[in-house]
Amino acid sequence: MTIVYLCLGSNTGDRLKLIEQAVSLLNLAQDIKLIRTSALYETEPWGVKDQNWFLNMIAEIKTPLSAQDLLIKCQNIERTLGRNREKETRWGERPIDIDIIFYGKEIINTQFLTIPHKHMHERAFVLVPLLELVPDFVHPVSNKTVSELYDDLEDVEDVYLYGTRVK
Ligand code: AMP
Repeated sequence: MTIVYLCLGSNTGDRLKLIEQAVSLLNLAQDIKLIRTSALYETEPWGVKDQNWFLNMIAEIKTPLSAQDLLIKCQNIERTLGRNREKETRWGERPIDIDIIFYGKEIINTQFLTIPHKHMHERAFVLVPLLELVPDFVHPVSNKTVSELYDDLEDVEDVYLYGTRVK
């Protein structure tokens, strides 16, 4: 069994419902046990700015699946919730995105997977909810804790606890 941190995000459609559905589909999936989730955060788009704000959350799960099989399960859930990768642009709008942030302490670099996630240390929308769950978790490549990675962030995009952003 491996403890895994997934980052869920949505910025089109009924974002809240899509995230909730993704969490329940993860929970229903064979071989995935949902342990806990962070709060929901409303976050400024990263990369491509001219699009809706995202809702993001981290889910802590336990699984006997390999990272590759877990990725396939996550992508199936994305498809079930209406994601169509062919129509998307890089860092553009998406009804649901599920990224693997940490897979235990493993370091994986294949054509399909980079774990820990390649951009996680640059993204406040990943680090803020992770900070809530596991501030002392050590990134196996940089050997920095989540809280040190957060302190090192330079360009911090806006991250609000969901419901607290004044529009
Ligand atoms: P995205 O469009 O952000 O969902 O990511 C597209 C591709 O990133 C997927 O097809 C994966 O093969 C690849 N990928 C590489 N590393 C990861 C990771 N840690 N979690 C999820 N997808 C990843």
